[in-house]
Amino acid sequence: MDFDDTPEEAAFRAEVRAWLDTNAERLKASETAPGMEVRNRPGTLKWAQEWQAKKADAGWACITWPKEYGGRGATAIQSVIWNQEEGRYKTPPNIFAIGQGMLGPTIMVHGNDTQKRRYLKPMLRGEEIWCQLFSEPSAGSDLAGLRTSAVRDGDDWVINGQKIWTTGAQYCKWGMIVTRTDANAPKHKGITYFIVDMKSPGIEIRPIKQINGVSGFNEVFFTDVRVPDANRVSDINAGWSAALTTLMNERASIGGGSGGPGFVDLVRLARETTWHGRPALEDPAVRQRLARFYIRSKGLQYTSYRTLTALSRGTTPGPESSIGKLVGAPLRQEMASFAVDLQGMAGALLDDELAPQEAAWQSTYLASPGLRLAGGTDEILRNIIAERVLRLPPEIRVDKSVPFKDVPTGPRN
Ligand SMILES: Cc1cc2nc3c(=O)[nH]c(=O)nc-3n(C[C@H](O)[C@H](O)[C@H](O)COP(=O)(O)OP(=O)(O)OC[C@H]3O[C@@H](n4cnc5c(N)ncnc54)[C@H](O)[C@@H]3O)c2cc1C
Repeated sequence: MDFDDTPEEAAFRAEVRAWLDTNAERLKASETAPGMEVRNRPGTLKWAQEWQAKKADAGWACITWPKEYGGRGATAIQSVIWNQEEGRYKTPPNIFAIGQGMLGPTIMVHGNDTQKRRYLKPMLRGEEIWCQLFSEPSAGSDLAGLRTSAVRDGDDWVINGQKIWTTGAQYCKWGMIVTRTDANAPKHKGITYFIVDMKSPGIEIRPIKQINGVSGFNEVFFTDVRVPDANRVSDINAGWSAALTTLMNERASIGGGSGGPGFVDLVRLARETTWHGRPALEDPAVRQRLARFYIRSKGLQYTSYRTLTALSRGTTPGPESSIGKLVGAPLRQEMASFAVDLQGMAGALLDDELAPQEAAWQSTYLASPGLRLAGGTDEILRNIIAERVLRLPPEIRVDKSVPFKDVPTGPRN
């Protein structure tokens, strides 16, 4: 493991800092990078689009993308450096992450030249926002069990069915959707991948109200929605490999975390919180909890350094990258729960203008169960580690080779 920047990485970091210093405001030691709590606030979308355009004009948007699509062809380690540095400034949460981190890379690999020319630049600039229409009421972890159908009709395809948990569908211009196009084939082999205009007739978007009062995601219903064949991203019935490209990029981007308070903020909170006239930090029980969080945070940090060292040396990271989300998401949830307890009654406040620190912890607490589901649940990640890292015998998958139409449906279908 190597903890230091190489001379080239240090030079790149200095260049990044110089640009950020002139274009953004550095966070004070007592401030936290804006996280979930500002995501749904009016004005955040405009702020995010302006920031994205500014970065794009200066060549700092989607830096790992090839230059022909507006990126700068940066390496993975340069992208990590950019993210570390940008996180030290008062910048908006990345509401374009699904498009830029998952769907754009899928178009680059599986889309045709016309699609790449039409969609990638407005996506990079944040001018057109994208959503991911994958999950269905009966197809989440088992995505290949999806039932939304697409049927060819002349130059169009006609889509019917329902998607769910679609983040941002209510403000997105485009969606990327996986559909069933051959029910006679086994489940992975009858799927086709399309780009869909979210304003098409027949699409109904119903926001889902979440525990924190906002509606980050939606149900999306499709009734005879027509999509031109020109919007097909994969070959007919060969959409599963494009879906896997999206999912691999999803796991990588979610593993990186998502703003909001962390361990250092928790220590500061314990120092500033008074219990019986003394800082809570002096209480032995509080210190013991903090020590446990510290050990896990450091374990995660050093594990991530192994990934960074591999990236810095130009090699592919090993199994340690699967650990990030599986350990990081529960740790975040437990730290937020502890912070809310430490704050007593004030810990329930969710208004980030009235009580920024309390709101940041409360909203992290309320959002953290979702982080353990999105991009692969804890159980699915354990299955992946068991099968691909530890090489344990695979799960029995009885429906893998039978025609999809013969797979028994559950009571919900
Ligand atoms: C914050 C958030 C944002 C999201 N955004 C999007 C989005 O933009 N677009 C989109 O398409 N989807 C999105 N999702 C949906 C997400 O992809 C699914 O929630 C996820 O794939 C799990 O599917 P499910 O919710 O249907 O749970 P299920 O798959 O029904 O799982 C239910 C439970 O069974 C367990 N389980 C399932 N299969 C196995 C197995 N083989 N072995 C052991 N345990 C198993 C799971 O771990 C879980 O505990 C989002 C979810 C969240 C929380």
